[in-house]
Amino acid sequence: MPPSSRRPRQPGAPAIDKRSIVRYVGITLFILLLLSLPQFGTGADLIYKNLFLSTAIVALGLDVLIGRTGQLSLCQGALFGVGCFTAVQVGAAGAPWPVAFLAAVAFTALVSTIVGLPSLRIRGLQVAVATLAFQIFLISLSSTKPEIKGIGTEGITRPEYLESDQRYYYFGLVFLGLTVLLVHRIRSTRSGRMFVSVRDVEERSGSFGIASGPAKLLAYAFAGGIAGLGGALYALQIGTPNDVSPFNLQASLILVAITVIGGAMSSMGIIVAAFFFSAFASLSYIPTDKSTLVQVLFALLLVLNILVYPRGVGGSFTDLKDQLNKLVFGPAPRPSPRPETTDAVAAASNAMALRKTPRPLRERLPTSTLLVATDVTVQYGGVRALDHFTAEVRRGEIVGLIGANGAGKSTFFNAVSGLAPVTGSIVFRGQELVGAPPAIRSRLGLARTWQDMGLVRADTVRDNLLLAQAWMARYPAAPGLLGLFSALPDERLVRHRADLALELFGLSHLKDERLGDLPYGTMRTVEIAAAVSSGPDLLLLDEASAGLTPEEAHQLGDRFSALRDELGLTLVVIEHHVPLIAGVCDYCYCLESGALIAEGTPAEVTAQPRVVESFLGKGSIDRSTDHHVVVTDDLVDDAVEGSPVDDGLEVARA
Ligand code: ATP
Repeated sequence: MPPSSRRPRQPGAPAIDKRSIVRYVGITLFILLLLSLPQFGTGADLIYKNLFLSTAIVALGLDVLIGRTGQLSLCQGALFGVGCFTAVQVGAAGAPWPVAFLAAVAFTALVSTIVGLPSLRIRGLQVAVATLAFQIFLISLSSTKPEIKGIGTEGITRPEYLESDQRYYYFGLVFLGLTVLLVHRIRSTRSGRMFVSVRDVEERSGSFGIASGPAKLLAYAFAGGIAGLGGALYALQIGTPNDVSPFNLQASLILVAITVIGGAMSSMGIIVAAFFFSAFASLSYIPTDKSTLVQVLFALLLVLNILVYPRGVGGSFTDLKDQLNKLVFGPAPRPSPRPETTDAVAAASNAMALRKTPRPLRERLPTSTLLVATDVTVQYGGVRALDHFTAEVRRGEIVGLIGANGAGKSTFFNAVSGLAPVTGSIVFRGQELVGAPPAIRSRLGLARTWQDMGLVRADTVRDNLLLAQAWMARYPAAPGLLGLFSALPDERLVRHRADLALELFGLSHLKDERLGDLPYGTMRTVEIAAAVSSGPDLLLLDEASAGLTPEEAHQLGDRFSALRDELGLTLVVIEHHVPLIAGVCDYCYCLESGALIAEGTPAEVTAQPRVVESFLGKGSIDRSTDHHVVVTDDLVDDAVEGSPVDDGLEVARA
């Protein structure tokens, strides 16, 4: 049983952060405003207020698809209609409203999942067009068959206790509240992390053990289920649909506008935007002779809002909260954005629990060989990025992979992690990887970092470490969403491991910082921490020292050794920083134009003239002097200077 991730509160520490007070006050005022809404207006406008609740619910679900998963759907109005239709039909058959609601949620989730199927093959605007096709199909179907909308049926009848429109408003408000809770809940579950990885790092999500296809379909099902709930609420409000039911394209476009103007992933912003679109824009409060003027003003207001607050209404709330906090409590203290200096060995031995992975025992190779690549070739059109490369990595080694830019180093990592078209063989822990999906490879014990950062910059440092362990939290979506006990042990485990890895890399003080706000070097360290937290056997690090100060790069070398010696990891590192290679690697491979040109210990490899020409000296061996002095750039420093090159000659600075 993993230890609880909740830490005891420090003596004297406040129960809640004082800067959260402004947020809580804002949320309370907002809830009070929603509760008192029926008291404003004429009473006749309650029908619009009730429609607003249904619209807000559907928009919150759509935001999970657009804001969280990056899938633009232009058919949420149609799905709203599907929910409404289902509830009407089930209600007309005599079922009570809870059954009609459940049926609407389930059926619309199913339809939405089917609508999302093309997203497995296509992306971006093409997906939007595919969803539009469904919207248009439903419009034409319902225009030829009005019964599709439920028109002409007896419809669903409200129970007596919900007959008053005012009561119905509060009934709808309960569902809106539940939807907000669900949407917030999903953010802190494995499913929410999967969604965000599809949005920001889809091609790389396999390295976290995430299969992007099922993640997308889950997002479609979730957004569809919520649209079904909104549709059912609307159905029970109107009873028998008439011809103005909002099943049309306009409804779909308005729903997209609400999520954009409300601000991605801001429930409050989306609810406010839904209110303006449903109630204000319906002009129920405005004399009809001024309606055109009001519509023009409304449109101008929307454009102005986006210009001033590109992050939408929710963004303006956040800015307001920050301003108020600054006014009341002064500027927020910012932690140092760099990792804390720690004793690498002591930190690693404190994080011994990271060594233990819950992965079931697999067949071990009889020898110490962990990875064997044989004749690996990667061809991109006319470019042979990797040319019959053969290499071996033994358990407990730190192996360096060096070579000039474009030599094929990252391509080798891509081949191992399943992102390059490979011929040849790559065997890891006795299992052939060629042909295996990327998500399976990470589950087998592979983790990697990327030359250009493979994490989600919009999320916090800690969230990124949780994302990296997505394969480990194996609970299904529904228990996670509902916070059921079956999801808790896995969730506790990954949170605990994230905290340990943050401590190991001196990042604990930055755990709540947004990753994208940190210096590049710190982001790279977070990426390594995330990879380590996922409990790999083999860690592939692509230019881990990029962006680090010389001292940080030196400390990185100590960390590499500590990861191997204390946590038992095996590492392959792509590095341009020669002292790091010379200082920590047990063995080294050098590539040139995709082909292996040297292998051996770092001293042996960096001493070879071809390596010096290709990598270290960038082709600038000066053989004109007696000493055959190698003219190198600043890549050569004390660690290599003086090492033998050829026939007793030595590397020296120009
Ligand atoms: P660098 O340090 O500059 O990243 P590298 O040794 O990692 O160099 P690779 O990124 O592996 O080099 O690239 C090797 C060659 O393969 C380069 O010529 C590159 O342009 C080409 N290449 C890599 N990926 C692709 C791709 N997806 N499509 C086409 N060509 C590619």
